[in-house]
Amino acid sequence: MNGVLNETTNKIHRHETSRSDFQTTCGATTHVAHDHLRLVAIERAVSDADVTKCGRCFADGSGY
Ligand SMILES: [Zn+2]
Repeated sequence: MNGVLNETTNKIHRHETSRSDFQTTCGATTHVAHDHLRLVAIERAVSDADVTKCGRCFADGSGY
């Protein structure tokens, strides 16, 4: 499953697959420049120690 990585905050969000481009479940990336967003596999993103899960997109995440 793909998520949307905000490279400025190192936060991974759940990708809203029914929507175009970088829409996320929590909507936090709506106003982030697309230059800073990347579609990545969630499992791969969280294997990076610097990346944290969004608390609104994931039950086991924190902050947003
Ligand atoms: Zn989120």
